[in-house]
Amino acid sequence: VDEFGLIAKYFSPLTKGYAGAHNLTDDAAFITPVAGKVLTVTTDTLVEGVHFLPHTAPDLVARKALRVNLSDLASKGAKPFAVMLNSVFPRDFGSDWIGRFAAGLSQDLDAFDCCLIGGDTVASVGPLTIGITAFGWSDPACCPHRSGAKAQDDIWVSGTIGDGGLGLLAAQGKLPDPGGALQSRYDLPEPRIALGQAIAPWVSAAMDISDGLLQDLGHIGKASGLGAEVFVSLIPLSASYGHSGYGGLAALTMGDDYELLFTAPADHADQLLRLAQTANVDITRIGRMMVPMGIICRDQDGQDVTPLRRGWQHFS
Ligand code: ADP
Ligand code: MG
Repeated sequence: VDEFGLIAKYFSPLTKGYAGAHNLTDDAAFITPVAGKVLTVTTDTLVEGVHFLPHTAPDLVARKALRVNLSDLASKGAKPFAVMLNSVFPRDFGSDWIGRFAAGLSQDLDAFDCCLIGGDTVASVGPLTIGITAFGWSDPACCPHRSGAKAQDDIWVSGTIGDGGLGLLAAQGKLPDPGGALQSRYDLPEPRIALGQAIAPWVSAAMDISDGLLQDLGHIGKASGLGAEVFVSLIPLSASYGHSGYGGLAALTMGDDYELLFTAPADHADQLLRLAQTANVDITRIGRMMVPMGIICRDQDGQDVTPLRRGWQHFS
């Protein structure tokens, strides 16, 4: 199959009739604004060997690429509706591989109520590389930034921390993972879309955690001109994580969580807990923002146990 045959066969159906996509037969897509909404846009690229292991099943590659983008939209309180796909396929990938990739993408586009509106398809000698750009609608009154945290605000996280990072070790055969619970958190993160929309009016700052909780909290701190104190004993850990022998401190520097990290005034706590319950996601208070810059981790006795390495960085 040639490039245009691939697009027509595998990708056009994923437009689900979105009018502005013209069935992927035009040069560009057209997005009609929704009155009173802000168009929120994000993009993330996954590279074989960097963001997923070589020989990962094609449907999982597609679904993870979509989900990490939806996680960014979730953190901004946006409701996703469309995505674009930039695919760099190794030359020897056949239509069978691409068909399975498209099937995985289709499954999760359905699950998250989105459609495909365009993209680019190229073949290359380099590693498989998938870029997705995702579009969502936000309420202009509630678009949380990284920069809005205030001193004394509570720091919250959704779900459990560290499972994705251990999932990578499990996928590499470096850690036992009976039942595969950890690896599934690495392969298929759960974008907290309903939670993100629900809490957006109540948070002072929000982001999604992808490169390690401490490093990402550092981004909120820097953008807000504040520091933070994190209590290691409060970090929510799953049962599988608990069985691994790793502690809460290690979880703070592992990547691939795709949970929400947010700050809010202490008197919003009850409301946030109620909203999280409705969204069916646990949220946990792990610390508070403070005036002195810098992130400090404390153990149960209040001792400073801040690790030197805070997360994942591409250029170090
Ligand atoms: P151009 O050469 O004008 O950039 P292309 O031939 O690359 O256009 O693409 C034709 C159409 O197919 C465009 O609408 C483009 O958005 C869409 N398209 C190409 N590749 C993909 C893909 N991987 N996923 C979704 N849409 C795609
Ligand atoms: Mg092109």
